[in-house]
Amino acid sequence: MTKLGVEDLLDATVDRLERSESRPGQVTMAREITSAIESGRHLIVQAGTGTGKSLGYLVPVALSGRRTVVATYTKALQDQLAKFDLPLVASVVEAELGHDLTFAVLKGRSNYLCLQRVDELNDRSQQLDVDPSGTAAVRKLIEWSHETLTGDSGDIDWSLSDNAWRQVSVTSEECPGARKCPRGNDCFAERARALAQESDVIVVNTHLYALDIASDGSILPDHDVVIFDEAHQLEDVVSSSASVAIGPGRVASIASTIRSVIADDALYTRFGRAGTSLTTALAARSGQRVALPLEQSIADALVELRLCTDDALTA
Ligand code: SF4
Repeated sequence: MTKLGVEDLLDATVDRLERSESRPGQVTMAREITSAIESGRHLIVQAGTGTGKSLGYLVPVALSGRRTVVATYTKALQDQLAKFDLPLVASVVEAELGHDLTFAVLKGRSNYLCLQRVDELNDRSQQLDVDPSGTAAVRKLIEWSHETLTGDSGDIDWSLSDNAWRQVSVTSEECPGARKCPRGNDCFAERARALAQESDVIVVNTHLYALDIASDGSILPDHDVVIFDEAHQLEDVVSSSASVAIGPGRVASIASTIRSVIADDALYTRFGRAGTSLTTALAARSGQRVALPLEQSIADALVELRLCTDDALTA
């Protein structure tokens, strides 16, 4: 079989579209991405509406054979990739390159129905001889838990209330982990993760990618390439998902909590002073992003706060 280049594969993909048309911007994008993947360098692409950017990056990714995560900001784009673009590229790869291209969408844990939660609702109902949920909405979800293959709330085709969903799902903080959970072996969230582990392309939202960075890569499988689509939102999402907020108000609240449990006025005073130093150091940077390396006054205030916290924890 002749070795296909990225333009050939892109042509073969675009030919299958109902309205197939030549898009020079898409071709340039695909060439640049291929070159960036091969040379292992970062690339920023600004592509206007109508460029056909999804295929412009999926085709080079498919050709590269490298495991790739695609992070999107909106659910609409996730759906478009999973239901339309990736199946299309996978079928072209099979026809033109003779191998499979596997893909999966991976979401945060609270997007999947928790079988342990459902068991607990059912147990409680048997013990008390009452309806497990109290609401028709939760009953419907419990019935759905016997039919669904994915447990993914995105597959639900009726109007779902947040309150009902919360009763049959858990956050990652609430989940004890598959090994400690009686339903760990058939858990939907774990199955989705296992599927992602075996896939060539994994679609996630930017928030989940940020959490993966913050947790030293404990959420997503190892990958060689990451594509941030809708990257104009990247900085804000990563900042809000993977950051810890420390400010004078928080320091004051911690100081008063410490005072109520530790009889050490000197420590309380030190906390107060460190909080004031932080306020003063940050005042000039109000509304701005504080970049590394930190200014000396901010670094000094944070070090003092850290020392106070260590002293409080060992008091
Ligand atoms: S491991 Fe257990 S508790 Fe955690 S999400 Fe799965 S079923 Fe629920």
